[in-house]
Amino acid sequence: MVTSKRGSKDLIRAINYSIILNKIKEIGPVSRAELAKVTGLSSATLTGISAQIIADGLIFEKEMGESKGGRKPILLALNPSGGYAVGIKLTENTLIGVLVNFVGEIIERYNMKLVSKTPESVADLIGNLTEELIKRSQVPKDKLLGVGVGAAGLVDFDRGMLITSPFFRWRNVPFSQLVQNRVGVKTYVDNDVNTLMVAEQLFGAGQNLEHFITITIGRGLGMGIVVNGQIYRGVKSAGEFGHITVHSNGRQCACGKRGCLETLVSDEGLLISGREVCSEPVDSVDDLLQLAESDHNNAQNVFAQAGTLLGAQIANLITVLSPMRIIIGGEGVRFGDWIFKPMHQTIKENIMPYQGEATEVVVEPWGDDRWAVGAACLVLGEFVKSPLYRNSSYD
Ligand SMILES: [Zn+2]
Repeated sequence: MVTSKRGSKDLIRAINYSIILNKIKEIGPVSRAELAKVTGLSSATLTGISAQIIADGLIFEKEMGESKGGRKPILLALNPSGGYAVGIKLTENTLIGVLVNFVGEIIERYNMKLVSKTPESVADLIGNLTEELIKRSQVPKDKLLGVGVGAAGLVDFDRGMLITSPFFRWRNVPFSQLVQNRVGVKTYVDNDVNTLMVAEQLFGAGQNLEHFITITIGRGLGMGIVVNGQIYRGVKSAGEFGHITVHSNGRQCACGKRGCLETLVSDEGLLISGREVCSEPVDSVDDLLQLAESDHNNAQNVFAQAGTLLGAQIANLITVLSPMRIIIGGEGVRFGDWIFKPMHQTIKENIMPYQGEATEVVVEPWGDDRWAVGAACLVLGEFVKSPLYRNSSYD
């Protein structure tokens, strides 16, 4: 009995710890009085737990704000050097790595070429890359909170399992455990689109939003869904937006079906469409983009048709899910207005008026490091999460 009482006290304390830490992240720098007001916690609880978080080095006292004649108020803020995370994006030939601080800023970046593609050798190279990032950044190893890995394909996040990997042809690989054995710190693995979504939720356009969707355009077409502040995963791999059927007898898709959205709105899909209608040589989607930019009508139409298809499906998403925001990212953001102008137009024409105003559709600027930062945010996201939602299989 004593144990369970102690246990529940510890749990309540851990939950309050997470509430305070998250609130400071959301609205900090913030005074203790304001924190007590917004969290509903007693000032005694707040003082005790914030002292603990300061001792843990995750927040610090900042003297700032308006002074009303006397001392300047002391505010609590997240400590950027409170902890660090390594994020690694697994691509076909390269590991793209970053080391970020506690507020998601890149401290160091480094890439390594894959020499062998067995799970063990990739896990081993992730270990080497992690060590290299720590060495270069001179961050103390005991400040490393964990390693996050973002991978294309089907991932069982709860079990850290790569179910299928399109680049490596792996099946059911317990990858987080393999990497964790090598690096000696907590390791999380998730689908790369989900890692981006966690980054948006922690530090980007998804901050403080209960319901939002992330869509990525590039080699494929990905989607992540946040409902009530939590990632929605469904029974199996929810968010396969690229594999919505738009033409039941359309082009063959890599998933085995025909006529998926991805066969028309992805690098490969655009390239095939471009070759069908342009007499000039089109070796890559960038050639097609160049043609569009030099006033080539057919090339422009390829992007416009893809944008229209994408817009119609986004309008359907809004109709069904009514998210607060849809955030579009990925390498395909470089297609700019050629694709996004018709997309916005089609969304406008295909949503019910009272719903449309509630959802904002934003196209985010894109940088090459974003995937790896997203992977690092997996670690930070799990670290600041309430124990009620944390993935216990990683404990
Ligand atoms: Zn498909």
